[in-house]
Amino acid sequence: MRIILLGPPGAGKGTQAATLAREEGVAHISTGDILRQHVREGTPLGKAAREYMDKGLLVPDEIILGLVRDRLAQPDARRGFIFDGFPRTVVQADGLERLLEELQMPLEAVVNIVVPDTELVERAVGRRTCKECGEIYHLRTRPPQKEGVCDRCGGELVHRSDDNPETVRARLAEYHAKTAPLIEYYRSRGLLREVDGTQPVAAVSEAIRKVVGA
Ligand code: ADP
Ligand code: AMP
Repeated sequence: MRIILLGPPGAGKGTQAATLAREEGVAHISTGDILRQHVREGTPLGKAAREYMDKGLLVPDEIILGLVRDRLAQPDARRGFIFDGFPRTVVQADGLERLLEELQMPLEAVVNIVVPDTELVERAVGRRTCKECGEIYHLRTRPPQKEGVCDRCGGELVHRSDDNPETVRARLAEYHAKTAPLIEYYRSRGLLREVDGTQPVAAVSEAIRKVVGA
């Protein structure tokens, strides 16, 4: 499986990518997760990226393409990949096309998870993520059994600092200006599939499997 999950912040890309990657045995590549790890470790890249992330702005394309190049070179990516939150600009999509050509691993499909903006702010603000294993929860729609504790690994659940209403609105503006054009970009290449992301998580999973033929 070699696919991209496209969609605005909070659409459910991370939730879907995690299960699908586990079930299919392919790499789950989330540029947001890779960046947050750099921020946690205080690397120079993390320090530079944080300036943008805190404001809800996109991190520069050269930084992102460098991270993706390194990630695709890891052995687990040979079996396939699910990109989550990448590409987010036309420059990134062009860069990915070149990388995948070099690796002779062409994309199979790009799945656009469609959710209206009105629902996205609430989804992001209620999101909680496990610090240890990255499992994703929501205070209302997917609460953990015990408050603040991950059902899967017992790790601590945290609220992302960019999941506040003001930053989410900035992230949505970035999405509409810079990422939404990728819908036409991939449609014109015959790769675009669409699923209704407002359905329950299991129904969205099933819809994704159906449109990618998995
Ligand atoms: P993304 O990776 O696209 O930003 P996430 O997968 O992190 O989105 O999901 C954002 C929030 O919405 C999380 O709190 C998650 O639990 C919740 N969520 C994901 N999918 C659904 C869904 N189908 N219905 C309701 N809530 C969802
Ligand atoms: P995410 O985890 O996908 O919601 O991303 C969180 C933040 O990381 C975004 O608001 C951006 O600042 C940054 N980011 C993640 N992926 C990318 C990307 N592909 N291009 C640019 N910035 C990114």
